[in-house]
Amino acid sequence: METIGLQKVVGVSYRLSVSEQGEDEPVLIETTTDDEPMLFLFGESGLPERFEQELLGKQVGQRFNFTITPGEGYGDYHEDDVAMLPLDVFKVDGKIDHEVLQPGRSLPMSDDEGNVLRGLVLEITDTGVLMDFNHPLAGKTLHFDGKVASIRSATPEEVAHGHVHGPGGHQH
Ligand SMILES: [Zn+2]
Repeated sequence: METIGLQKVVGVSYRLSVSEQGEDEPVLIETTTDDEPMLFLFGESGLPERFEQELLGKQVGQRFNFTITPGEGYGDYHEDDVAMLPLDVFKVDGKIDHEVLQPGRSLPMSDDEGNVLRGLVLEITDTGVLMDFNHPLAGKTLHFDGKVASIRSATPEEVAHGHVHGPGGHQH
């Protein structure tokens, strides 16, 4: 029977709940089902390393239930990463696109060195935009509860690309 490890494409169904320090009740933010499990190439999931460590060696049908602290996950929330940017920064051809610039929207921004980072629009004033550049899950404790839905060997092409191909993965 196949077990989870490197060069395997893994499907998992799970419920992800998050809690902030001082909060009692975790809040459910994501559910994937057995019909449409979350597929990833082991070692390349983009999720915290701890997530994959917890799944290593498991077989189809096995359940998992574990907690990832901010330190093992997406780091602490930094107040310093919230910044008021001049409105001019958001103008395209001298205009603000109000369809795009809205509170709650996540926008790709580039810094002076051309690095792209996503920021969440918190508030828009007459002169500036308050942006939060923290990871959406920064400062949160993650609770995963789920089941291994599928395991198969990755194709050489998938290993070379570092992602899953086909249904539930990249279509190219
Ligand atoms: Zn590919």
